[in-house]
Amino acid sequence: MKVEISVIIPIYNEEKNISPLYERVKKVISNISDSHELLFVNDGSMDNSLKLIKELARMDSSVKFINFSRNFGHQIAVTAGLDKCLGNHIVIIDADLQDPPELIVEMQKKMSEGYEVVYARRRTRVGESFLKKFTAKMFYRILSKITSVKIPLDTGDFRIMDRKIVDVLKEMPEQQKFLRGQISWAGFRQTYIEYDRDQRNAGETGYTYKKMIRFALDGITGFSNLPLKFATIAGFIVSGVTFLVSLYALYARFVSKDFVPGWTSLILAVLFIGGVQLICIGIIGEYMSRLSANVRKRPLYIVDESNVASKD
Ligand code: UDP
Ligand code: MG
Repeated sequence: MKVEISVIIPIYNEEKNISPLYERVKKVISNISDSHELLFVNDGSMDNSLKLIKELARMDSSVKFINFSRNFGHQIAVTAGLDKCLGNHIVIIDADLQDPPELIVEMQKKMSEGYEVVYARRRTRVGESFLKKFTAKMFYRILSKITSVKIPLDTGDFRIMDRKIVDVLKEMPEQQKFLRGQISWAGFRQTYIEYDRDQRNAGETGYTYKKMIRFALDGITGFSNLPLKFATIAGFIVSGVTFLVSLYALYARFVSKDFVPGWTSLILAVLFIGGVQLICIGIIGEYMSRLSANVRKRPLYIVDESNVASKD
């Protein structure tokens, strides 16, 4: 059967949101095309999410699900959806109704104007902590400064895209997924609509700060080598400063004879160079750990159960 439009919904402890989300998405998507699928990816939820999804699947044959063996993370959940979806157009949407499903209509309209990707850019976001909004804003701005790929500012994964893009994504071998960057990298005709991001309908965010930092580092290491160059630049600066200080030390010792046996200067210099070295090793380590994950090439996720027919 030919599927016109697939909606990919990653789920991590969203039991209170599944039913209202289903209602709203179903209504919008049925108006666009009868041949659609809603693909829920349950990313190791510990609540009743899976049960609710299975109930929906029993009632509605357009509901597909993939159940992971544990929590693999949001980007991986979306990746699994991209691997298994059949649609000609593919929508990615959060389950917590922060991304209003009704916007899909407007996005779809842009697609019919000949675009291959329409993403939704957040004009405002309510109901999120100051720290989250501030770090997100800074992150997108820093990233855009240090990468040559044009990654749109203030944009999540809420978007619609053509099958062509998904085919490109499936060919990209990296283990650390930073989909919004990868999609920009893919090219084609991309545009956006603006929206005001709603509050979470119910439940709590699944993105802990730990996950956010990992995600930010995946984005930076995947799309910029500038931090590695920083290590070199810092090395040059520190050696330059050290050279000047040693000239001064010689001057103080032999010319001005104005010196005290210096514990302070010694310890400061040692700590400073030690700090810079540790930062540089840390940066190299971030790249190295990703490199080794890509060499290991473990499967990105383990499926426990699914009603998606296997294509092979
Ligand atoms: N999510 C997921 N796995 C995770 C964390 C989140 O699949 O480990 C899903 C979550 O259910 C939601 C989407 O990813 O559909 C966005 O997560 P969340 O709303 O918690 O993030 P926030 O909007 O706070 O950044
Ligand atoms: Mg959310």
